[in-house]
Amino acid sequence: MRLVIFGPPAVGKGTQASRLSHHYEVAHVSTGDTLRQAIRQGGQVAQRIRDFIDRGNLVPDEMAAEIIERRLIQPDCRAGFILDGFPRTMSQAETLASMMTRRRIALDAAIFLDADDEVIVERVSGRRVCPLCGRSYHIEFAPPKRSGHCDDDAERLEQRQDDQPVAVRKRLEIYATETAPLREYYEGRELLVPIDGTQDADAVTKAIMEALHRLPTTARDRRAEV
Ligand code: AMP
Repeated sequence: MRLVIFGPPAVGKGTQASRLSHHYEVAHVSTGDTLRQAIRQGGQVAQRIRDFIDRGNLVPDEMAAEIIERRLIQPDCRAGFILDGFPRTMSQAETLASMMTRRRIALDAAIFLDADDEVIVERVSGRRVCPLCGRSYHIEFAPPKRSGHCDDDAERLEQRQDDQPVAVRKRLEIYATETAPLREYYEGRELLVPIDGTQDADAVTKAIMEALHRLPTTARDRRAEV
């Protein structure tokens, strides 16, 4: 199974990608997590990355593409992968397509998780993350067992800098201009699977799995038919 999952910020891509990766036993590849990890490790590029992210901007296409290029050659991606947060621009989509063609692999689907700005703002304002392990919570919809602390390592939860209102506005603008066109791009390639992201997380997972189950043939089958 090889999937792309895209949609507006905080729509639940990370949660769904993580669940799907466990279910289908494939790698969960998140460019956002990789970038945040690079910031935690420090070093020369860390500050540069932090500046892009904290202001709600995208990192340059080449930087995001390099993360994916390095990640997809890892052994755990051989059985398949779910790309969470990549591609985010048309240029990245083209890069991904050529990367995959070179490796003679194909996407099975591009899951488009959608929700209105109003829902996004509500989700973003309640999102809290563990700075240690990166696990994400929502104070109302997915609270931790002990208020304000991570269930896994008891670390104090934080609000992401890029979840502050100014950065969120910027991220929504960039999403509309840079990322939303991917919808047509994948629709044209008959890969688009639109899913209502306003439902609760379990309902979204169920809807995605049902839609994947209904796909006429997997990309692998399609190639075999040629
Ligand atoms: P996410 O965790 O997916 O919301 O990503 C957090 C931030 O990381 C984004 O707002 C961007 O600044 C950066 N980022 C993640 N993926 C990409 C990408 N494919 N291209 C450019 N920037 C990215």
